[in-house]
Amino acid sequence: MTPEKKAIEELLPDELLARIRARAAGYDERNEFFHDDLVDLRDAGYLRLFASADDGGLGFGLRLAAAAQRRLATAAPATALAINMHLVWTGVAHVLAARGDDSLHYVLEEAVAGELFAFGNSEAGNDEVLFDSNTVAEPLPDGSYRFTGTKIFTSLSPAWTRLGIFGKDDSGAEPQLVHAFITRDTPGYTIRDDWNTLGMRASQSNTTVLDGVVAPAERVFRKLPVGPNADPLIFAIFACFETLLAAVYTGLGERALQLGVAAVQRRTSKKFDGRTYAQDPDIRWKIADAAMAMDGLYPQLDAVARDVDELVDHGGQWFPQLVGLKIRATETAREVVDLMLRVSGGGSYFAGNELGRLYRDVLAGIFHPSDGESAHGTIANAWLGPLDD
Ligand SMILES: Cc1cc2nc3c(=O)[nH]c(=O)nc-3n(C[C@H](O)[C@H](O)[C@H](O)COP(=O)(O)OP(=O)(O)OC[C@H]3O[C@@H](n4cnc5c(N)ncnc54)[C@H](O)[C@@H]3O)c2cc1C
Repeated sequence: MTPEKKAIEELLPDELLARIRARAAGYDERNEFFHDDLVDLRDAGYLRLFASADDGGLGFGLRLAAAAQRRLATAAPATALAINMHLVWTGVAHVLAARGDDSLHYVLEEAVAGELFAFGNSEAGNDEVLFDSNTVAEPLPDGSYRFTGTKIFTSLSPAWTRLGIFGKDDSGAEPQLVHAFITRDTPGYTIRDDWNTLGMRASQSNTTVLDGVVAPAERVFRKLPVGPNADPLIFAIFACFETLLAAVYTGLGERALQLGVAAVQRRTSKKFDGRTYAQDPDIRWKIADAAMAMDGLYPQLDAVARDVDELVDHGGQWFPQLVGLKIRATETAREVVDLMLRVSGGGSYFAGNELGRLYRDVLAGIFHPSDGESAHGTIANAWLGPLDD
């Protein structure tokens, strides 16, 4: 066993994974946050995964974190997707530190102390995502900022203790996008009880209304111009977000393939004299198709994450590589789940069936940034240059 595989299995041993998997159907059915999973993951050290050993963490880089997320998602995709948001912020702090910027070191220290970071960036109707904002960020004389706006899909809503937010300060000559963290006990925001979705139900990604919430000056961590820019923060967010998200959907696809193989080996065919569908050439083709699709994904995920860890400079191809990985992972997982439903039979159409739940969960992959249009735009620009005016 490689040292990397050993580290992942020590972090997420089979018994823990089995416990988390056993709870997933109930959380989904009851539309309930994964409180017990969170307790287990916190106890296992999952929240301090990116902090260095000297700081009391596990000293993981993005490659190991992605491997851990892939494994966790084989048990509970919604739990993995939501915990991803904490891993994105702690990963951003780690990626910046590896590039000589320690400005978010406190994020890693607080993660070691047990704080849970959530990602409050998405806004209704903001398809500029990180490059513009509908939230108002109003500067106050002491350097703090007051934020007013609505953030949608805030995963970890019932449990976060730190929320990363951003908004636009229009008060100066040039508008600025202001990034900051607030704590759960800060007055001036409300969490709506509005998460009732097709899938990823345990993530409890409720709407967060910022109603003049103030982030203190020492928690305002970046001010950037509106529009695309090459600030290391943007690279770090993209690198962690796209890679860890891809890891979740890779794990989901991997689990779907396992379930499909098990179903095919279990189901018998009257037409084939009681032999299992594992002997049916058409079914074998579908299993092989799914396995081939997944085979290409594992090394791509590993290589992109490794290149972030090793500070490889892909220049203008970095963003295409990151968004390309996200699209390949989410689309491949969707195709694999679809194929596995076809070989597993109608039992998977019943409520409570794991493959049926994966079918609902995997659809969420379509909506995360970068969506298909944005990713294709990024990649086409890298290869063809921008569109003519
Ligand atoms: C399971 C899951 C978890 C997620 N977790 C997080 C997270 O933790 N943090 C985070 O920041 N993001 C998160 N995201 C958000 C995600 O990244 C996207 O931002 C989100 O999917 C919205 O996509 P959309 O713009 O395509 O949605 P849309 O359907 O276009 O919009 C979402 C809502 O806004 C309304 N709306 C759209 N346009 C306008 C408009 N112009 N004016 C007013 N209302 C409008 C729509 O009616 C709809 O109700 C998560 C997404 C999913 C699916």
